[in-house]
Order: sequence, then structure tokens, then C-alpha cells
Amino acid sequence: MMQKNKTKLLITGGAGFIGYNLIKYLIKKNNYKILNLDKISYAGYYYKKYPIKSKNYKLIKCDIGNNKKIKKILNEYRPDKIINLAAESHVDNSINNPTQFIKNNILSTFNFIENVRIYLKNNKFNKNFVFHHISTDEVYGDLEYKKIKFKETSPYNPSSPYSASKSSIDQILKAYYRTYKFPIIISVCSNNFGPYQNIEKLIPKTINNILMNKKIPIYGNGMQIRDWIYVSDHVSALEKIFMQGSKGETYNISTNNVKTNIDIIKNIIKIFDRSHPRKNKKSYSDLISYVEDRPGHDKKYALDSSKIKKKLNWRVSSSFNKALELTVKWYIKEKIKNV
Ligand code: NAD
Repeated sequence: MMQKNKTKLLITGGAGFIGYNLIKYLIKKNNYKILNLDKISYAGYYYKKYPIKSKNYKLIKCDIGNNKKIKKILNEYRPDKIINLAAESHVDNSINNPTQFIKNNILSTFNFIENVRIYLKNNKFNKNFVFHHISTDEVYGDLEYKKIKFKETSPYNPSSPYSASKSSIDQILKAYYRTYKFPIIISVCSNNFGPYQNIEKLIPKTINNILMNKKIPIYGNGMQIRDWIYVSDHVSALEKIFMQGSKGETYNISTNNVKTNIDIIKNIIKIFDRSHPRKNKKSYSDLISYVEDRPGHDKKYALDSSKIKKKLNWRVSSSFNKALELTVKWYIKEKIKNV
């Protein structure tokens, strides 16, 4: 039987939380050859622990800002599509060290984009080639409690050095599309959760602190609203977008699980109280500790994702409560394994 040609993907940032889940999901499909470029920062903790192995997959440890290496990789690998997830991703780190975010998420990413532009200019490439860039709902800024949802057409209004760095590179890509017809697609996603996320983020941190019987810090009054998506729903949306999306378009991705941070923590505590009760039967809720709010903290993010549902027929497949329970169980197993 004739073997169907596999689509050659170049994925950046594939050792991080979302990239790792995306690669694992795509490998199972057996339709892709995948090259992962990642500088393997601290965020690749789980990647280092559980490296991906498959005959259709390869990792090159590389900073996407490294011109020489990137030129060589593009010319040798000749990808059909690029999916760009590489970024510094933690807002608190961007407040403590903005320079690193500006250098990495703007300058290094710009070097990468410019190398891809020159590569496309000098080479014949497939008409289905796309540069799919992964952005965040934080680019739209603070929604304020009374407003409903951001659409793809909402103006950018970032609040933190992280979201400003992500907004800047989105704007450069939009200008490249207009000026050079650089074949971009941008996807904008809400807060992800699930297995393999670094311990610094809200959900894994809460689970870890409960496991260690440590205080769970919550910023301000805990009433910040986020729109939560299980990572497996995000990665299925990403595949739809880079395979079927239209060039020049932006697609919002969310599952309409709009919750306050304090509700998320209380939900996790409920799961622990039920499945891992303390010996004295007291709830873990006494671990909640309100701390001084993050400077510039946005009150609310929520996305309207009707476009991807309508145009690309993307459907959400997980339920929030079940996904949160699975996530808690996954981290508990991780912890137990590592004691
Ligand atoms: P992460 O921090 O877990 O992983 C990012 C990965 O990118 C890391 O493995 C890191 O080593 C790599 N990387 C960073 N800069 C690099 C560079 N210059 N060269 C090569 N590799 C580099 O982040 P994540 O949560 O997996 O997020 C992935 C992408 O999705 C980011 O662009 C982020 O802005 C975006 N995003 C994340 C969320 C979320 O909730 N986590 C939501 C929306 C959008």
C-alpha cells in the first residue's frame, strides 16, 4: 500500500507545557513528522523527566533567536508548517525581570520570524505553508467585570511586561502579513491547565502546596476572573487551525469556563477533601492565604470563541470538573512517585 506523505511540522517551545501536550497528541495521529526546537529552559522540567521518543519526532536544543542555527535548520528540514509556541510565559517573572521578556519574546522571536521570511523568499514552498503563532488572551488587557468577552477584533491593551511582549510580536506578525504576505495565522488562547504544567502556575502550585501542607498564596481578594481551558482542548484547536485555518486570520480559543481564582482554589480543595481527607478530617481550606495583589493585575479575561467553532468546526471535548479532577490526580501521582 502507498504510504501517505507526512506533514513536516517545525514546533518551537515543544518542551514546555502546551508544546509537550501538543507533540504527544500529534504523534498519536501518525500524520506528522515533527521537529521540536526548544532552548530547554526551567519550563522544560517535565520534558527532561519524560523525554518524547518516536520515530517521527526529533528535538534540537536551540534558541529561536540563534540566526546561524535557525538558517541551517530551515534549509535542511524544509518544514511544511511552523507552529511557534516558544516564549517566556510567566507574568510574575516578567514583572521581576522585564528585560528577559523583551529580549526573548520580542527580539529573539523577531529574529526567528525574519529568518523564516528570508527563507520563504529564497525558496519554493508549499502553498499550504503557514506560520502559526500562539498568543494569549492577555494581549487584550483587562475586560473589567461588567463586560462580556473579547472578540478577535478587540483592540490590544496589554497590562504586564509579559502581555506587552506577546502583543508586540503579534503586531509585527500582522504587519508582516500585510507588507510581505508572510503567511501567518494567530491563535489567542485563554488560561490552560492540565498535566505537565510547571509548578509556578496557579493550579499546579495549589495542588503542590496542599500536598506539602503549605500555605496557598492567593493574590488580592482572589476575585480575578479567568477563562480556563483543559490543555487537550487547546491542542485539538491548534491542529484544526494550522491544518484548516485561513492565512491572515486570528482565532480565539476558549471553552467558556469563566471562574474566579478563589473558586479554582476552592474546587481543588474540595477534590482533596473528598479524595485525600486529612487524618483529622478538617478541610484543607485553612491553607488559603491572601497575599498582596500582583501590580497591574487584570481583573478579568474571557474570550468569544464562536469564530473557530463556526469556521473550523472545532468542538470542546472535556468537562471542566472532570478535567480538573484528572489534573489533580495526575499531580498527586507525580508527587507520590517522587517521594
Ligand atoms: P512554557 O513556559 O511552559 O513553555 C515555553 C517553552 O518555550 C519552554 O520549553 C521554553 O524552553 C521554550 N522557549 C522559550 N523561549 C525560547 C527561545 N527563545 N528559543 C527556544 N525555546 C524557547 O509555556 P506554555 O504555557 O507551554 O506556553 C506556550 C505558549 O503558549 C507561549 O507562547 C504562551 O505565551 C502561550 N500561551 C500560554 C497559555 C497558558 O495558559 N499556559 C495561554 C495562552 C497562550
